[in-house]
Amino acid sequence: MRAPWAFSVVLLAGSGCAPNVPPGRSVSVGTSSHGYLRSGVRMPLAGPGFKVVRDPEAAFGTARMVGLITRAAAAVERRLGPGPDLRVGDLSLEAGGRIEGHGSHRAGRDADVLYFARDAAGRPADPGAMAFRRTGEGERDGRRYRLDTTRTWALVEAMLTDSEVEVQWIFCSHGIKVLLIEEALAQGEGADLELVRRAAWILHRPSNSRPHDDHLHVRIFCSEEERALGCADTAPLWAWSSADEKLPASSATDEEILAALGSEPEGTGRVAAH
Ligand SMILES: [Zn+2]
Repeated sequence: MRAPWAFSVVLLAGSGCAPNVPPGRSVSVGTSSHGYLRSGVRMPLAGPGFKVVRDPEAAFGTARMVGLITRAAAAVERRLGPGPDLRVGDLSLEAGGRIEGHGSHRAGRDADVLYFARDAAGRPADPGAMAFRRTGEGERDGRRYRLDTTRTWALVEAMLTDSEVEVQWIFCSHGIKVLLIEEALAQGEGADLELVRRAAWILHRPSNSRPHDDHLHVRIFCSEEERALGCADTAPLWAWSSADEKLPASSATDEEILAALGSEPEGTGRVAAH
């Protein structure tokens, strides 16, 4: 499952060698909860179908993570027409590492995004951060809203069918997961049942964190190249994922991998200012 040297790279990082990663190439190193990020790429603060709504200093990810969010937001607009922008929250700090308010988000492979909403009259709305109950209803500033299941499912679908990146998890509350799966199945013969089956695994309420009733948390797998450089996926690798085959048959030693990566960048333990 995981290359045996993956953990030791995380533990040994910091012993210091000249970086040898291609200039500007972003690399997720270690795990989401204990890793860091090299050459982080900042999300554009706005683009087709999205805008960053949190601290821009916490809007860094690998190029793959940033690409996934931008492509998915654009895909939702193409499919359903213009609507409220996808509100993008925290990704990682530029160098990754510990970030205030998150147990993970350390290695450029996690991103928080808000749910799409409709107002009480059913019109697309942009209420900002708010929690939705399992019925899909919620309130903010004295106004009632509903989860926009159509637009939110379109976002999930776009991420799970992305041509370049494999999504490991989309954390959400259990109630919202049910609403999204129901939305997908309501498309009748147009529903992609294999996609729905995968979504039933990937949409998940983690047992060790907040219920995720006010945002989706997306985590992606390492790329093949990143794995060779110390990126470490944690279980599970899904049955349909090609990740197992992608694991490199590398004979590199810890020292060789560290030499390729260089030392852990300074400031990795820096805390984001919110
Ligand atoms: Zn998150």
